[in-house]
Amino acid sequence: MSSKILNGTRLAQQIRSQIRQKLKKLNITPGLAVIQVGDDPASTLYIKYKQRDCQKVNFHSEVQRLPADITQHTLIDKVKELNDRQDIHGILVQMPLPETIDEQTIIDTISPNKDADGLTPINLGNLFINRERITPCTPTGIIRLIELTGEPIEGKKAVCVGRSHLVGKPVGVMLLNRNATVTYCHSRTKNLAEMTQQADILVAAIGKPKFITAEMVKPGATVIDVGINKVEDKLVGDVKYEEVKEVAGHITPVPGGVGPLTRAMLLENTLKLAGRFTGSELYE
Ligand code: NAP
Repeated sequence: MSSKILNGTRLAQQIRSQIRQKLKKLNITPGLAVIQVGDDPASTLYIKYKQRDCQKVNFHSEVQRLPADITQHTLIDKVKELNDRQDIHGILVQMPLPETIDEQTIIDTISPNKDADGLTPINLGNLFINRERITPCTPTGIIRLIELTGEPIEGKKAVCVGRSHLVGKPVGVMLLNRNATVTYCHSRTKNLAEMTQQADILVAAIGKPKFITAEMVKPGATVIDVGINKVEDKLVGDVKYEEVKEVAGHITPVPGGVGPLTRAMLLENTLKLAGRFTGSELYE
């Protein structure tokens, strides 16, 4: 069997086109502010892509670049300044931050009403009680890719390998909210392959190149590869793509799978937040 490729690049294009249509109903220009601390080259590249995406949908975007030795106090003040700005509807603090800064404290400072990444405790709490409003970008993009298969999520056995706040844990909750039966696996899981072999939907968010092999995958499963790993200057996922695509029913490529969807969901969240700012129904 050779699986169907879930093309994230094409789906993201369609979502951007829908966003341009929805934007016509808004009387304001959505504004996204990204804070970058330090000059990590990968972060600089990701931010460049996000700005380019904003241009494509006619959003205002700006980057606040701050030195790596900035104090936590000054960074908090910067976030608060953006919280108060009328022309900024979404705020994103590019991670990782320098070790001297507590990431969660910074996320806690972002107003839930401007939380473009959907990672503040209020928005994650809403997700937890199945009140999905502003949801984290990567998990939401993963759900969109699974929906692209045309198969229902309800009743499926889903296995998430990885339990980070950013990806694994929230995507598991989103699958549970859609009535999948969800199992979380992580670095302390015993007999991992036994778990993954049962998955109708397998989400790999581990950060280890080509970790999921064909023997770990149930024939016909939907395999979502979240991993972004640099190996000899090439990007590879957490799934051994060439062999797993022969077993899976559907699979996401790396690059061109989850990554473009994550960025499209950032635009969608910013649009929702701008809609909410104007009292438009786009927020719901
Ligand atoms: P993370 O915070 O490092 O979490 C990795 C998770 O994998 C942890 O829960 C860890 O378990 C688990 N893990 C590590 N080794 C394992 C093993 N041998 N067996 C089973 N589980 C294991 O990473 P993350 O932020 O979730 O990101 C995961 C990957 O996705 C990274 O490659 C990242 O670059 C990528 N990513 C991609 C996008 C995108 O848009 N495509 C967005 C975000 C992240 P413990 O909890 O026990 O440590």
